[in-house]
Amino acid sequence: LHVQGDLAPGHAVAPTLDQSRYLTQVMRLKAGDDLLVFNGRDGEWRASVAEVLKKGVILRAEEQTRPQAYGPDLELIVAVVKKARVETIVEKAAELGAKRVRLVLTHRTNADRLRLDRLDAIAEEAAEQTGRLDVPTVDDPVKLDAILDGWEAGRRLMFCDETGGAPAVSALTEAGEGKWAILIGPEGGFSPEEGERLRSLPFATAVSLGPRILRADTAAIAAMTLWQAAVGD
Ligand code: SAM
Repeated sequence: LHVQGDLAPGHAVAPTLDQSRYLTQVMRLKAGDDLLVFNGRDGEWRASVAEVLKKGVILRAEEQTRPQAYGPDLELIVAVVKKARVETIVEKAAELGAKRVRLVLTHRTNADRLRLDRLDAIAEEAAEQTGRLDVPTVDDPVKLDAILDGWEAGRRLMFCDETGGAPAVSALTEAGEGKWAILIGPEGGFSPEEGERLRSLPFATAVSLGPRILRADTAAIAAMTLWQAAVGD
């Protein structure tokens, strides 16, 4: 369970009301029962249910069971597509180890209204399910130009380009390990000007995910998997 408070021996931790309901009504935990918790900083802990109150459950951290571990430094930058597809993308990004999901507005983005709190909850639940000890962040949508203008020094960009890029695994292997971001465009693809800018960036590698045009959610999953196979851990 992903909790907010600090984890140290004997520390009391208060899960949210929704989490408390899940623990008592779905997991059927009672006072004295154990569960595993993490907060993204202090590793994984065995905690016990100290009290079951009307206003929620109180847990007590008992002992650390795993030290904090962070996954690869991988960002997924993905154009806003239909809400259900964005939700799938966030869930799969959490499962496949991305550290941050950045939503991007492009010339051809047809922005569906997104609920960031819902995307955060999806990321949290997916991270819990994988056993990773951190939860990926999901950023509010921003324009592609703003992301490229503020690019972090030393981070490489895997630009997924269905109009013709190098085969992903060999291109990534050649570019090497390190901090990476993956960029996936909207259903209508990138505009010619966006494509031109992206191909001219010194930190970007244009890659193909194969001869078929994939939907954005499929492309995101394929790209993260190929990235992991080539340069990830
Ligand atoms: N421009 C396309 C069209 O309307 O025919 C479709 C774009 S595709 C649905 C959405 C995004 O997925 C693309 O912008 C690209 O980033 C990625 N993508 C899909 N298929 C790909 C492929 N075979 N190779 C590389 N990227 C791909």
